[in-house]
Amino acid sequence: MEYRCQYYTEGCEFVSTSQFTKSHEAHCPYRQFDCPFSVVVTKNFCWRGKLSGMWDHLSCKHTALALPKETYFTFTVDFAVSGLLYRTLHARGEIFFVVCRMINQDLYCCVLYVGPEEKASEYKYRIILTRPSCSHMTLYLPTQPYFVDTEALFRNMDCAIFLHGVRSGHGYGFTGLGSCEVQIGYR
Ligand SMILES: [Zn+2]
Ligand SMILES: [Zn+2]
Repeated sequence: MEYRCQYYTEGCEFVSTSQFTKSHEAHCPYRQFDCPFSVVVTKNFCWRGKLSGMWDHLSCKHTALALPKETYFTFTVDFAVSGLLYRTLHARGEIFFVVCRMINQDLYCCVLYVGPEEKASEYKYRIILTRPSCSHMTLYLPTQPYFVDTEALFRNMDCAIFLHGVRSGHGYGFTGLGSCEVQIGYR
């Protein structure tokens, strides 16, 4: 006896025995996904639905944190703020979630892919940090699934890191405000 994936109406063509169909459904790319703010930040339910409807939710309900759909994605970093800083953006037809945090005066940033975990490795990101009179760019790094523990990424340094010891025109250290630009590419 073969069973269709319950998301066949969404376009999934997976068919197998009951057992394999069940385990497939838990990871089916056509399944419903939770709002990244609830997954990454609050841990409280916010919204769940098809990926195709997620950007509408993000741009309506999280307007201030959803970067405008443009070619360049930039936001301001206040180096004095020690908590998490996050933004969501829509690039290359996909949704991404940026998380930054100051740790020991260094700036740590990671970019998460919002959608099925196996697609995260298809994209890469780099971050350009601009401060008065200087600018630093990281290498390209693979985006991570948005189900990962971002604190673990930061702890393992599996992310973009800007060290405060790098000299700027005003000496060492991060003070005041900086501007982060996120670039998303295909791997
Ligand atoms: Zn499926
Ligand atoms: Zn939400």
